[in-house]
Amino acid sequence: MADVSKTEKAKLYVPDLEELRAVLQTGLKDNFAEVKVSVVECPDLTKDPFNFPVRGLCGNPRVTDVGGVPYLVPVVQKHKEYDMNAISKELELPGAFILGAGAVSSRIVGMNAEIVLRCTLYFLSQLIPLVLTEADGRPAVNSSYFSSINPLDGQCLQESYSEKFSDCNFGLLGNLYACEGRPGKVIEVRAEKRTGDQSIVTALRKTLEVQYPDQSLALGGTFIIQRGKAKIHIMPREFSACPLNSDEEVNSWLKHFEVKAPLICQSVLVSKDPGLDLRVEHTHCFSHHGEGGHYYIDTTPDSVEYLGYFVPAEFIYRIDRPKDTHAVRRD
Ligand code: ZN
Repeated sequence: MADVSKTEKAKLYVPDLEELRAVLQTGLKDNFAEVKVSVVECPDLTKDPFNFPVRGLCGNPRVTDVGGVPYLVPVVQKHKEYDMNAISKELELPGAFILGAGAVSSRIVGMNAEIVLRCTLYFLSQLIPLVLTEADGRPAVNSSYFSSINPLDGQCLQESYSEKFSDCNFGLLGNLYACEGRPGKVIEVRAEKRTGDQSIVTALRKTLEVQYPDQSLALGGTFIIQRGKAKIHIMPREFSACPLNSDEEVNSWLKHFEVKAPLICQSVLVSKDPGLDLRVEHTHCFSHHGEGGHYYIDTTPDSVEYLGYFVPAEFIYRIDRPKDTHAVRRD
């Protein structure tokens, strides 16, 4: 595991859920024609379309920003690997359920039996983490997905993580929400017909930033794009041969796709960086029709329908913060 000895922790502002409901109801109206924000019991997330390994999003909610884009660009740092079980302990919540957005950077040791050739393939992809970490007497349950570019047709290839790997690892970076996975009260967000130019995640984040300019708030949770299409990206399996030094160079290296609903998106957003060099929002989505990746925004504003469940986090943890940092791809 990469060096987590320097983990930093900050307390976040957590408004009353009813207050938060009213703030989001008003703020999202600037970006969507139809908005209904409620405080509800978290639906059973073990059911379709979520199929999470836990029932809810509640119990000691916290977020973390692990590693960062500086470990991916300009040049990939292949040794930056993390274990979700160790991360849950670093978050002072061993056995936590963890969701969010991350990267897979794995060395797969393959062997061709015919010519007895061993090769180590370095492999990059988008990780959609959904992990119930190990606890005393209970092994980890890894329900994560990962998306890569299918070498056969250049299209999106979404796979179940545990069908290919037996660990709970990820690489380079992760923006994660952790909790005990219990039922409880959450914020339900229904938004339809996008009238502004912000994604639903950016609209939530900007609303909080405007309403609480002196406080740092974070939300974590899951939302479904029920109708419409969305723009996503997936990293190529191999890293760029030349260093990537700007948003433009990274953008032309990434592969972009338009994918269709229903998409189940895992999201972490922070309204204001309390000086921890954070990525302020990050969302990865999966589907049951084989498409998934890094969510930007819907591409069908007139017909899009969102349904989401979010919880305000109590703490943020900065794990393995890069020493040499830059501002490429921060939202
Ligand atoms: Zn991403």
